[in-house]
Amino acid sequence: MIPFLGLQQQHEELLPELLARLTTVLRTATFVGGPELEAFEREFGGFCGSSHCAGVGSGTDALRFVFLALGVGPGDEVITVAQTFVATTEAITQAGGTIRLVDIDPSTHTLDPRQLEAAVTPRTVGVVPVHLYGRPADMDPILDVASRHALWVVEDAAQAHGARYKGRAVGTIGDAGCFSFYPAKNLGACGDAGAVVSADARLIERVRLLRDHGQEAKYVHRVEGYTGRLDAIQAAILRVKLQHLAAWNEMRRRAAAWYDEALEGIAGIEAPLEPDYAKSVFHLYAVQAEDRDGLRMALTAAGIGVGMHYPTPVHLQEAYGHLGHGVGAFPVAERIASRTLSLPMFPALTRAQVAEVVAAVRRFCGAEAAPVSD
Ligand SMILES: *Cc1c(COP(=O)(O)O)cnc(C)c1O
Repeated sequence: MIPFLGLQQQHEELLPELLARLTTVLRTATFVGGPELEAFEREFGGFCGSSHCAGVGSGTDALRFVFLALGVGPGDEVITVAQTFVATTEAITQAGGTIRLVDIDPSTHTLDPRQLEAAVTPRTVGVVPVHLYGRPADMDPILDVASRHALWVVEDAAQAHGARYKGRAVGTIGDAGCFSFYPAKNLGACGDAGAVVSADARLIERVRLLRDHGQEAKYVHRVEGYTGRLDAIQAAILRVKLQHLAAWNEMRRRAAAWYDEALEGIAGIEAPLEPDYAKSVFHLYAVQAEDRDGLRMALTAAGIGVGMHYPTPVHLQEAYGHLGHGVGAFPVAERIASRTLSLPMFPALTRAQVAEVVAAVRRFCGAEAAPVSD
């Protein structure tokens, strides 16, 4: 048995530290706002190299509040990719904007800068590249289009804490970066949590208002807001885990290198690319498989945890039928969705476990390739 995530083992190792911090929070009984939240905001901002950070209730809140803070409203078009987790597009709609999808690049699976310019209309206000799987999108050409059309850029860095683009931390390259601390992410809470980082202090101030009913002081409501706070219990857990994040990301990269080496030369399998410009943090190790569903079933039967990220692109979801895109609208996203398979990936994954996963992949692909007459 090889788990997909290995979170239980991580918590077992951190248990004394986690329990000590939780005990402190329970004793002080400050659960909303307070020193744990403020310390986490400082520390996570510092990790990203960003001067300002606001903790919020989830990654979706982070995106939604940034869009609202940037003034997105009815008729405003926001461009993002057809292949992402649905939170990216939900947040655009919930902020009152209109989703405009573009296809992904076939090798990086992130926003294809060549498709971007053609998608810009007079109503476009911003663009949201997604650093999918922990692999940075190609930001320079995206920023170039954005600056020529006076668009803001918000990075969906929910899967990419600590990833770098040409040496710069993702989340700090555009106008704001949005992070999720959903339990399975590289930095995961024990429940829902998220954060926004930005160099723009006023933008972060607006996010702080929005997350807490628009209150600038108790019962002084400057705007209508939401319940979208990061609570002290989650902040305390995140502070413990944040101290390990850089090391964990390196361990993920090490496991990815083992996979890359072991998967080489297996027909029908493509290992994920790490572009020259990027330092990926391998939130997921997603291969492309010719017979994805066959391989998925074979690995599952062998006791190996796998996932698909994501099997149906946004434009083909029932929820987005109203966008009017049929099959064929975003062919790269559709092809990737039908071939992508995520193998076990977590910091403590061992070389022996990687070898076991790859042996199972090899068995399946070898059997596939054997001529029928044999
Ligand atoms: C996880 C995720 C989100 C949303 O995060 P939640 O904390 O679950 O709201 C947004 N975008 C991407 C790409 C994600 O993977």
